[in-house]
Amino acid sequence: MVVDASGFGSKSVEWLKQYGIEVKEEKVWIQLFYATRFFRLKNQDRPDWCNLLISPSFPENPYGAFIQTIEENRFSVTFSGYANERAPKTNEEFFAYAQKLPVPDVLHFLEQVEPISEIKIHKIPYQVRRRFDLADVPEGFLVVGDAHCRFDPVFGQGVSVAAMEALELQRFFKYFTYPDKGSTKTFHKRISNLIATPWEMAITEAFRHPDINGDRPLIQPIKQWYSKKVYQLSAFDPEVYLRLVRVMNLIRPPLHLFHPKVGFAILTNQKKRLSVDLK
Ligand SMILES: Cc1cc2nc3c(=O)[nH]c(=O)nc-3n(C[C@H](O)[C@H](O)[C@H](O)COP(=O)(O)OP(=O)(O)OC[C@H]3O[C@@H](n4cnc5c(N)ncnc54)[C@H](O)[C@@H]3O)c2cc1C
Repeated sequence: MVVDASGFGSKSVEWLKQYGIEVKEEKVWIQLFYATRFFRLKNQDRPDWCNLLISPSFPENPYGAFIQTIEENRFSVTFSGYANERAPKTNEEFFAYAQKLPVPDVLHFLEQVEPISEIKIHKIPYQVRRRFDLADVPEGFLVVGDAHCRFDPVFGQGVSVAAMEALELQRFFKYFTYPDKGSTKTFHKRISNLIATPWEMAITEAFRHPDINGDRPLIQPIKQWYSKKVYQLSAFDPEVYLRLVRVMNLIRPPLHLFHPKVGFAILTNQKKRLSVDLK
């Protein structure tokens, strides 16, 4: 029995190819970068928040920022950008990047701190779902985690999915006696089912970006329309917000967002917005 949990750098696809076994890869080229720098406060006035997150919202705002408080009064500031965006490499470029954000909070923060490190760049060229479930994988060869599917990390799904897969692996060892014929296929099908929802969520968001290309399912525009409405509504409707968080954290399936309460809120909110716009 072999378990490949070696992460994104896994060689499984290449190894299987050497034995004539093709594993289909569904790739979405996002060309994501993270640019991170450490800072400390110039004076003792700490911000009134602990962490500050500005998520990208395609297509209006393709830029993301994350400020994290860390030990010894230090902060890490990370910017993210997609597609053809250039990562900031100098002091000036780091400041200029903060100016692109839709709100000035990060810029104000940068004015109150001084850098204590270089800028480090990390690049993630693509997200990929590897279809081990559709391939003729040898019995007893199991692939989990990023080796199986790598998501855009901005949406924070990788660790949750890896944890759910670890539970699936535990179940596999409990209930299957190797070498049960077909148990590997069954395992990879279960992993694929776990991956399906977060993968759909990740690519639905990625394809809002005008410069991210790939095979878009026909139903994509409807999903994008509905999820955008849910995001907008979640900013001021606590019920919708809680439902969204449960789905994003993989506690509930996406159907949770199709509850009549959410549909009703979207319709009534649209009417309210329309009447405000007309006034
Ligand atoms: C910059 C960045 C930010 C992220 N942010 C988030 C986030 O906020 N939330 C989230 O949920 N996910 C995030 N992710 C994704 C998350 O890190 C991964 O989904 C998760 O770590 C996958 O776990 P894994 O065990 O499959 O792989 P990994 O965590 O990559 O672990 C694989 C391990 O195998 C080891 N290894 C590889 N080859 C061998 C070998 N031949 N022999 C022995 N050991 C080997 C590696 O050294 C590594 O320790 C982020 C990823 C990146 C790159």
